Amino acid sequence: DGFEMCHEIKADEELKHTPIVLLTTQSKPQDVLRGLHAGADSYVTKPYDKEVLLSTIEAMLVINKMRLTGKDSDEESQFVVGGVTYRVNANRQQILNFLISAYKDAFLQNQRLDKARKELVLFNQKLENMVAKRTSALEEEIKKRRAAQEKYRRLAITDGLTQLYNYRYFMDYSRREFERVKRYKRPLTLIFVDIDHFKKINDTFGHEVGDQALRMVAQMSRKNLRSIDIIARIGGEEFAILLPETSLEQAYLVAERLRYVIAGTIIQAEPRELSLTISLGVATVTVDTENFNELMRKADEALYAAKKNGRNRVEPHLRKRA
Ligand code: GH3
Ligand code: MG
Ligand code: MG
Repeated sequence: DGFEMCHEIKADEELKHTPIVLLTTQSKPQDVLRGLHAGADSYVTKPYDKEVLLSTIEAMLVINKMRLTGKDSDEESQFVVGGVTYRVNANRQQILNFLISAYKDAFLQNQRLDKARKELVLFNQKLENMVAKRTSALEEEIKKRRAAQEKYRRLAITDGLTQLYNYRYFMDYSRREFERVKRYKRPLTLIFVDIDHFKKINDTFGHEVGDQALRMVAQMSRKNLRSIDIIARIGGEEFAILLPETSLEQAYLVAERLRYVIAGTIIQAEPRELSLTISLGVATVTVDTENFNELMRKADEALYAAKKNGRNRVEPHLRKRA
């Protein structure tokens, strides 16, 4: 290795005055001393600074010149380091001692820096962990709030008994839909549903069974509609169905199917069974329908006609002939 080679050179009579600068990665003070023992004249650690290496070589050349000219005494000598001239009154041994102590200082400084760097890395990791934890907690919180918001939004538009839409949402939605249909001249039809003789069901079986019957009608109706149809419970035992892109004739068929399905369903009201019927009124948007309330009035008139004409039936609202 370098130390051994240094030894060899310094042991050779002809070569022993060649100044040697050890350039090495070994950076402990013991290594410096090992270098000195091997006869090296100076010592620079890798990774090295170009400036440092050059000034070291400069110093070596000055020392070598002093030796060659027999000036290795108490006489003043000049060192040019980094372009600056230093006058030094010292012998070789003193210079070496000085370099070693300076180096030791740098080494300790380096150790301290290294320790600080490691502490900084640890601190950084801790900080990152804290940030990550805080971020995931925040994300969790946001998720929870979104879910709560969604739950309240659903509650606000839902009828608690039947889980259909409530009156308020139905009106909001229908008014918007009415405007859209008017603008684009698309068909839109409304069905009103009212359970027949519901009071009698309550009176005979009790309010609980009445509620059960309401839920059954809601469920059966929803099942028999398309997903774009909106169904809501708009009163005690009254429902409204809005059918976009549907003519009066098509809606009449939907209403008739609903009437038929409900009339044929047996409700299990332990320990008894019961059945019920519904009446339906159908009205569609025409060129002269001014607003959604007018459509509601027409559907209500049709429903009234269905009741008057015997219940368990569908009546369409037909335009009065001129
Ligand atoms: P019609 O065939 O003329 O519609 O007769 P009806 O008895 O169904 O008509 P009416 O509107 O007079 O009665 C509706 C009844 O519905 C009155 C009320 O006691 C009952 N009702 C309203 N809301 C509820 C409810 O949430 N649960 C129950 N069980 N009954 C309700
Ligand atoms: Mg009613
Ligand atoms: Mg009724």
